[in-house]
Amino acid sequence: MSNILEMKDVSKSFPGVKALQNVNFSLEKGEVHCLIGANGAGKSTLMKILAGVYTKDEGEILLEGKNVSIKTPSDSMALGISTIHQELSLIEELSLAENIFLGDYLKPGGGFINWRKINEESKKIFSLLGISASPNLQTSEASMGLKQMTEIAKAIKSECKIIVMDEPSTALSSDEVLKLFDVIELLKNQGYTIVYISHKLDELYAVGDRVTVLRNGKWIITDSLKNIKQPELIYHITGRSIEKEEKVHVTSTKEEFLRVEGFTNTKIKDVSFTVGKGEILGLYGLVGSGRTELLRAIYGADAIQSGKLYMNGEKKSIPSPSFAVDLGIGLVPENRKTEGANLELSILENAMLPSLHSFSKGSFVNQKDMKIAMKDAIQKLNIKASSMHVPMGTLSGGNQQKVIIAKWLIHNSKLLLFDEPTQGIDIGAKDEIYNIMKEISGQGSSIIMATSEIEELITVCDRVLIMFEGKVIKEFTRPAENKNDIMNFAVSG
Ligand code: ADP
Ligand code: MG
Repeated sequence: MSNILEMKDVSKSFPGVKALQNVNFSLEKGEVHCLIGANGAGKSTLMKILAGVYTKDEGEILLEGKNVSIKTPSDSMALGISTIHQELSLIEELSLAENIFLGDYLKPGGGFINWRKINEESKKIFSLLGISASPNLQTSEASMGLKQMTEIAKAIKSECKIIVMDEPSTALSSDEVLKLFDVIELLKNQGYTIVYISHKLDELYAVGDRVTVLRNGKWIITDSLKNIKQPELIYHITGRSIEKEEKVHVTSTKEEFLRVEGFTNTKIKDVSFTVGKGEILGLYGLVGSGRTELLRAIYGADAIQSGKLYMNGEKKSIPSPSFAVDLGIGLVPENRKTEGANLELSILENAMLPSLHSFSKGSFVNQKDMKIAMKDAIQKLNIKASSMHVPMGTLSGGNQQKVIIAKWLIHNSKLLLFDEPTQGIDIGAKDEIYNIMKEISGQGSSIIMATSEIEELITVCDRVLIMFEGKVIKEFTRPAENKNDIMNFAVSG
């Protein structure tokens, strides 16, 4: 195979940081090339140089053997390189089709816009990608997965040869990630060359042909993913093999609220820890490390084979979620659409499900008090909906999530379990949800949050437990100061 692109001896410094030092990176035509490295390794910087967002200090870029100069994003696009940055660039107020054709109808002197053609062309690209959604949809109404697909459609429309995707999977649900992999396979078969950035190892093996590892701004290795085994890859990413701690018993400095001892089932092994009153405890680990399963076991959704659970020092048994709910434990599950909410029921009905008894005397339900409580929650959590009677399904992801949180607040839950709380939620609503979590903990309730987003972990959590292959292997009390170590432990155990 021939190299379609070569980046040779590329260096780039920012004030105080050598972000890239003599990095070599090449792409073979038609391959999916994964770029991996810990946070700050230089992945985005390298790709931003290719995209014309940053200019390199040194080095050269060859496209199909010819030296090229990339100084601006339009230079990059004119050379057939399309970059989908981590923060998507779509304009929320426009339709998906309008976004796909944005560059075209805003050209100076463009004048006449053929809307019908824009929609038809967009539909063609969508069906090529196997997407059934209508390109007429306003972007703000689209799911994260559909937005990602629209960015890809935009890239295809611009007649590019190389598509760079910078951590495309972070905001996607697991179904959406699978769909993305299908589309990448399809693009590959049509001759596109793809750069896929991620720090999730299982994704690389699922989607990639070759991999390049960067560490501290330096090129470490490029190899076929068929040749390189996971432990070796981890070694290249972290630069060291890490001692595994045998068993970790971890406790909070705050007054204990929850104590879990020796929780074990088919997915988790001998997990012990405590959570303090008003503490936010983070669970971090790769997909399959047991984070979700631990939350489900605490909530009584999955059975445990052995282990004990104490609340306020009292031993409790939680054979099913209804016991958990009665004890004041609420779960905000990973899969909002299928587990957390009923999309046909109204906001009010969704939020009141666990609290019906407390608003009822015999068969009389006090609707007035319910509505007052709901109104209060809508205001407090800034839930955007035209009324409390509209179906849950009409709300954006962020607002649905807030209704699910409202449900547990109305029920006076003392322990909230959050599983990937901001997956597929836009940035603004993310921050609001972080603030809500902090407020809940400030009022003395405890939170356990499973997440795969390191930034989220650092922003929100007081303390972090790393899970690996079903076990808690490490505790960090100051997550923000230990970002790289947290990631390394999560990846390599
Ligand atoms: P990665 O994408 O692998 O996580 P980045 O390329 O974003 O890494 O960052 C590499 C290094 O360069 C980091 O130390 C980061 O802080 C630094 N860096 C990246 N962009 C900038 C910038 N615009 N200004 C200053 N430093 C930057
Ligand atoms: Mg990056």
